Amino acid sequence: MAKNDDNLLKKIVSHSKEYGFIFPSSEIYDGLAATYDYGQNGVELKNNIKQYWWKSMVQMNENIVGIDSAIFMHPTTWKASGHVDAFNDPLIDNKDSKKRYRADVLVEDHIAKIEGKINKEVAKAAKRFGDAFNKEEFVSTNPRVVGYKEKIASIEKRMQEAIDTQNYDDFKTLIEDLDISCPVSGSKNWTDVRQFNLMFSTELGSVAGEASTIYLRPETAQGIFVNYLNVQKSARMKLPFGIAQIGKAFRNEIIARQFIFRMREFEQMEMQFFVKPGDELDWYEKWKEKRMKWHKALGLGENSYRFHNHLNLAHYANAAADIEYDFPMGFKELEGIHSRTDFDLTAHENHSGKKLQFFDPQENKNYVPFVVETSIGLDRMFLAVLSAAYNEETLEDGSERIVLNIPPALAPTKVAVLPLTKKDGLPEKARELIDELKFDFTAQYDEKDAIGKRYRRQDAIGTPYCVTIDHQTLEDNTVTIRDRDSMEQVRVAIGEVRVTLEKSTSLTELLRKN
Ligand code: ATP
Repeated sequence: MAKNDDNLLKKIVSHSKEYGFIFPSSEIYDGLAATYDYGQNGVELKNNIKQYWWKSMVQMNENIVGIDSAIFMHPTTWKASGHVDAFNDPLIDNKDSKKRYRADVLVEDHIAKIEGKINKEVAKAAKRFGDAFNKEEFVSTNPRVVGYKEKIASIEKRMQEAIDTQNYDDFKTLIEDLDISCPVSGSKNWTDVRQFNLMFSTELGSVAGEASTIYLRPETAQGIFVNYLNVQKSARMKLPFGIAQIGKAFRNEIIARQFIFRMREFEQMEMQFFVKPGDELDWYEKWKEKRMKWHKALGLGENSYRFHNHLNLAHYANAAADIEYDFPMGFKELEGIHSRTDFDLTAHENHSGKKLQFFDPQENKNYVPFVVETSIGLDRMFLAVLSAAYNEETLEDGSERIVLNIPPALAPTKVAVLPLTKKDGLPEKARELIDELKFDFTAQYDEKDAIGKRYRRQDAIGTPYCVTIDHQTLEDNTVTIRDRDSMEQVRVAIGEVRVTLEKSTSLTELLRKN
C-alpha cells in the first residue's frame, strides 16, 4: 500500500480487530487509552517476531546471552539511571482547545515545516538544473537554503539549552517567538511549560509512604545493567559480550495515540553490548549495520528504512541513531542504537557501592565496560510488519481481496488444510495431514463455505499456503497447494507439502540473510 496514507492506519486498525490481531483493551468497558490486547492471530505474529529477534541475537551469537529480569526493581535503580529526576516530558496546554502537547514536539514540528521549505527549494533547483544538479553544493551555497538551515540550528540550540538547564520559561518563550499555534484551536493561548514524570509508581507491601514506592520499569535495559556481574561471572563471559532481554515496559505517555505505535504498556527487545572503553564507536557502527540488515532481510521494502543520527546527544551518550520506518504516519522511530559510555554501570556502582567491572587479563587491570545498546519496540515492529503487509488487490475477474503479505516465517498460520467437500472421507484425509504437520507448523482446518471464500479468509490473516484435499487426493495422494501472493495452485504429492513449508516458512532462511 502507498505510505503516508491517512486511511491506511484506520484500515489496519479495523482489520486487526476483525481478524483477531489486536483488540482495544477491556473493550466492553469502552477500552483503556493507549492499551491494547493481542488476539489469537496477533499473539502468533508477535511471538514469531520475538523468535526472529531472539534467535538472531542470542542463538546466532556465541557472545550474547539472554535473561528475563523482573518488572519490579529496587527503587534506587531508577535514581541511579536518572529516571526519577530526568525522565520527564515538558508539557504545554493550549487554553482554548484544552489539548496538551509535548513542548519539544511542537518545536520539532515547526522545524519539520522549515525542512519542508528546504526540500521544496531543492526539488525546484533539481528540476531547473537537470543532470548538472549538485545537491550538496546547492544546499551549502544557496542563500535561501542556508538561511533556513541557520534558522533550524538556532531553534535547536535554544531548545537544547532550555532542556539542559530545565528552564521551562525559556521553552515557552521559544514557542511564542516561533509563533506556534495549536493545530486544533489555531490559537497561541498557551499555559506555562511543566514537567511530567513518565514512570508509573505503586506501593510495595501494605505500608504506604515514600520508602515503599516502587516503579513499573520504563525500560528493560536496567534489568540487564544490574545483572551485568551475575551474568559475566556465571557465564564466564569476556569482553566484548552482550545480554539480551525481551519484556514489558511502562510509560505514562501523554500523547498516547497512533494505535500501537505509542502505548502506555508495551514490550521492548533490548540488547546491551559490553565493550572495552575506546572500542565503543566501532561496535556502534557494527550494530547499526547489523540491525539494519536484520530489518531488511524481512523484505518489507528497501526504501522503507532510514537512519536518523542524533545531533543533540543525551549527556551520557557519545553517539546515537534511530532506525526509522516509513509507517502509515510517515517516517518514525522504530529502533534506537545508542553508545551509552560507562554511564549506567558507573551510576549503579555509585549508588550500590558494588564494583561492576571487568578484569582484563591482557591489560592486567579492572575497568567499567562501555555499552552499546540496541533497543526496539516489539509493538512498533508489529505495526511495521502489518503496515507493509496490508494490501487491497483487484483481481483479474474484477473481484477484490484483502491480503496480508506477511513474511511467511512470521505468518501466524503457516498452512490451512481445506477439504473440498464435507463428505466422502475428505475431512478425515485433511485431518490426517494436519495431525502430521501440527508438530512443526501452525495449521488450520476449515471446511465451511465455498473454497474461494475460505481462501479469502486465509489471505486476510496472511496464511502463506492453502492445501486443498479433493477426490483425486483419495485416489493418488496428491493435493493442490495454493500460494498466497501469486494465488497460483500446483498439484503435488502430499509429502511435498512438508517440504514446501520447511523451505519457505522457516526462520532459518531469514536468519541466513542476517
Ligand atoms: P519516542 O521518542 O518515540 O518516545 P524513545 O526515544 O523514548 O521513543 P526509547 O526510550 O529509545 O524510545 O525506547 C526504545 C524503543 O522502545 C523505541 O525505539 C520504540 O520502538 C519503543 N517504544 C518507546 N516508547 C514506546 C511506547 N510508548 N509504545 C511503544 N513502543 C515504544
